[in-house]
Amino acid sequence: MRGLKGRGVLISGGSRGIGKATAVRFLEEGCRVFICGIDQTEVDQTVAELSSAGDISGVACDVSLEESVAHLVAAAEQSLGQIEILINNAGIAWQEDFLDITAEHWDRILAVNLRGMFLVGQAVARRMVAHGKGGAIVNMSSTNGLVGEAQYTHYNASKGGALLLTKTMATELGMHGIRVNALCPGYILTPLAQEIYDPSEVAAFANQSIPLKRVGTPEEVAAAYAFLASDDASFIHGTGLVIDGGQLAF
Ligand code: NDP
Repeated sequence: MRGLKGRGVLISGGSRGIGKATAVRFLEEGCRVFICGIDQTEVDQTVAELSSAGDISGVACDVSLEESVAHLVAAAEQSLGQIEILINNAGIAWQEDFLDITAEHWDRILAVNLRGMFLVGQAVARRMVAHGKGGAIVNMSSTNGLVGEAQYTHYNASKGGALLLTKTMATELGMHGIRVNALCPGYILTPLAQEIYDPSEVAAFANQSIPLKRVGTPEEVAAAYAFLASDDASFIHGTGLVIDGGQLAF
């Protein structure tokens, strides 16, 4: 894709799942990549596994904590020189009935998925504005940011918030040449999804609810991240791209 070669890319939640596939994709595009995950061992393993594919390093970070995010952004800048692309991807999810959700569970999901996205987005955008060369930010929302789904009240609220955070960041950051967009994937087969659902449930869901009759892969989401971050998307700003095999089409 145009305009990616040589770029410095920070990927939050890049140590597994969609974020890891995205690290692979940006390395293939000739970018320099810096990842974080909450578990240092997993970050180190992913960096070691992908290092033969290009320039990649990383650090452990909890995106919900301001100090941890400040350390992440400083370390990423030290490694990349400049963060030109932010993939704001880190997130958590679990199923829970609305009537059973505790305030503590609500706070944790919102803290990682929405506060974390805000903290990382703001810290990186401040550096992009200071450098004066623009940039691209792609936030991770979900089809769950567009429609409700039972047992995901806290997750749905965080992903709906992520989409409006994206749109509002776009209105303020466009004047600095910083494009901000979001992805809204449907069901993607990742470690997170495998922890939540058993394979027979997944097959039945795909057959009944997805016109393409299958769930998506992390690589298909990585391709969309790369597109929105590239110059091929140079006039796409403030929007959410749905990647769901047609799930929301009916
Ligand atoms: P995974 O659990 O496979 O990967 C999540 C990544 O985020 C891991 O690298 C994880 O690190 C990291 N992470 C979790 N919490 C934190 C934290 N507090 N600080 C920093 N990093 C953290 O999930 P997916 O790849 O499935 O999901 C990635 C994103 O895509 C999420 O935002 C998710 O909500 C979203 N999404 C996923 C869909 C799906 O069907 N899979 C559909 C739509 C959206 P560690 O492993 O160390 O915990």
